[in-house]
Amino acid sequence: MRTEYLTGLNPEQLAAVTLPHASALILAGAGSGKTRVLTTRIAWLIDNNHISPFGVMAVTFTNKAAKEMLTRLSAMLPINVRGMWIGTFHGLCNRLLRAHHREAGLPSTFSILDMQDQLSLLKRVMRAMNIDEERTPPKQVQHYINGRKEAGMRAHECESYDPGSRRMTEIYAEYDAQCNREGVVDFAELLLRAYELLSRNALLREHYQHRFQHILVDEFQDTNRLQYQWLKLLAGNGSAMFAVGDDDQSIYAFRGANVGNMRDFEREFKIQHFIRLEQNYRSFGNILDAANALIEHNDGRLGKNLWTAAGPGEPIRAFEALTDHDEAAFIVDEVKQLHREGTALADIAILYRSNAQSRLLEHQLFANNVPYRVYGGLRFFERQEIKHALAYLRLTANRDDDNAWLRVVNFPARGIGARTMETVQVTAREAGLSLWNASCSHPPSGAAGKKIGEFVKIIETLSQEIAPLPLMEKIDVLLDRSGLRDYYRAEKDGEDRLENLEELLNAAQNFMHEVPEGGVEDFLAHASLEAGEHQAEVASDALQMMTVHAAKGLEFNVVFVCGLEEGLFPHENSIMAEDGVGEERRLMYVAITRARQRLYLTLASQRQLFGQTRYNLPSRFMREIPEALLQWINKRASAAIPTSTTNPTFADKRDLHGFKVGQSVAHPKFGSGVITAAEGSGEDARVQVNFDGAGSKWLMLSYARLAPA
Ligand code: ATP
Ligand code: MG
Repeated sequence: MRTEYLTGLNPEQLAAVTLPHASALILAGAGSGKTRVLTTRIAWLIDNNHISPFGVMAVTFTNKAAKEMLTRLSAMLPINVRGMWIGTFHGLCNRLLRAHHREAGLPSTFSILDMQDQLSLLKRVMRAMNIDEERTPPKQVQHYINGRKEAGMRAHECESYDPGSRRMTEIYAEYDAQCNREGVVDFAELLLRAYELLSRNALLREHYQHRFQHILVDEFQDTNRLQYQWLKLLAGNGSAMFAVGDDDQSIYAFRGANVGNMRDFEREFKIQHFIRLEQNYRSFGNILDAANALIEHNDGRLGKNLWTAAGPGEPIRAFEALTDHDEAAFIVDEVKQLHREGTALADIAILYRSNAQSRLLEHQLFANNVPYRVYGGLRFFERQEIKHALAYLRLTANRDDDNAWLRVVNFPARGIGARTMETVQVTAREAGLSLWNASCSHPPSGAAGKKIGEFVKIIETLSQEIAPLPLMEKIDVLLDRSGLRDYYRAEKDGEDRLENLEELLNAAQNFMHEVPEGGVEDFLAHASLEAGEHQAEVASDALQMMTVHAAKGLEFNVVFVCGLEEGLFPHENSIMAEDGVGEERRLMYVAITRARQRLYLTLASQRQLFGQTRYNLPSRFMREIPEALLQWINKRASAAIPTSTTNPTFADKRDLHGFKVGQSVAHPKFGSGVITAAEGSGEDARVQVNFDGAGSKWLMLSYARLAPA
């Protein structure tokens, strides 16, 4: 028996790893080793209890985490981890549905719609139903449908009391019918189908219940109702479910994740083994203290005590910039400095609340030649040229995929106009056919029909030609025969896109290497499911950028959390929502606890975002972190943006809209106070006012309605 992998675990961790065959809940704070315990337990089960690697299923939060788990497992044990059921909910459900597509009522080649594809299919359905997009915004319908699916409900199970909700359920029903005709499934459908498959098919259910003796779930706090029900079905009465989670890191309530699942789990699985892990191995004391103090402000916590043996470490660096440009410049300066001092870029992460914040940072990084990777931005597989190429591939695999048909029937342009496409769509709708079948069996007359015929021929010939080829060569041939390569070669700014198309060949090659037995459908599924992780996999040293949501479970030596302003983080949409700020606070807790050694918190008083200039107050989260843990770095003058630089010695010469430092003023919301400092000039001028009731605040003069008192 090899037990080296058990050494170094603390007694609670060891107890969790070596629990007998029974369900258990490990509830523990960030960085306490939950994921490590889960991985080690899989090794222990296989090694010590002679469980087959195929008798274990583990659910992770991202594909990256799944890969990491497999790598660690194979380092712990000399086993072949290929083919083990370790993956995300979506990935595992996809696998189940591929294996039993007939029982699930799907073609073997079913394609997966990402959010963008789903929306365009939905719009088509709504247009066919003559529904006004102004009155019923498709995005809202999309949200509704996904919400229903995640609650496990089909259209006919949805209650509707008024014409508005009746319309929603009608669209839902039509949308589902169209998905079935096309042989496509959206993300939520993967789960719902897989759930229905198991709940309706006793034979299959029993097979899997018998097979998976152990089910292990990471980030259990973020499972939604449907996911929980699916797990319950799979577990049946005999499997042991090992769930690890942290209620303080529940950040998907808006998507139906349900901390209540933890309570149900305890009850329904009659949990006897309830283990807490309290030692944090990730962060230094100051970082942990900040996280603990922040999360104390939330109500209804299950409560836990996290400590570290690592000592306090450095103070947390806080930086308040005048503008978002200054903030970005500061971050990039610090990154360069850290890099010069020997920190690898890959050990540094910039976290932000909203994807939109990355643009400016990217701009600065690019200008400073700092290599970086954005997780979950515009995903590689979501780029236009990649979607075009994949649409050809999809059509060769599944002719009924209407989204794919619409995307490439006239791309590159082959003279098929919008009117012809409309005609085919009407015919298809009336005859209940896919666009492909409609265009073959009832081709439009005249020149249009001929052009469509040519397209059909391209796809048919292409399919035959690539059938015997390995995946990468399939795509290579496809890029030529479709005309995509020539098209982008001729386009003025097509170079980037051409490069991306070549990168697609690399992606295909990697995939062939990782999943040697995988077919076209598997590759297409991989492209749809790989949640923005592709770019980050390139081996070269690069700074990591992502939203806080995407950072869950990860850790970095240095972390920047930026945009700590009211309205941005906490996000303005959360402020009115029930437990909205509580959820934002958990998100902030996740952000802080990603840092191992050094944490920066940054904010700007003025920011261009969503097409407007905003003047924000510092985030309440800044105040909730004890001042003693923070080291405020003086507001730096940014060399790049001279207009916003500050130089207090010239304060009296600047245009402060008639105000002076030392003057008494009144504000409609904060009451009366005294100006204690000033920065900038004219448009950019801002003053610090010490308010009698509201404390000290920085205000933009051109914006704040400040009056002399
Ligand atoms: P999160 O809640 O953020 O997902 P977690 O509880 O899953 O965190 P891990 O990622 O498993 O925590 O562990 C955090 C870090 O601590 C990792 O680098 C891990 O290798 C390390 N670690 C965990 N347990 C120990 C231990 N007993 N000795 C040394 N290092 C440990
Ligand atoms: Mg973890």
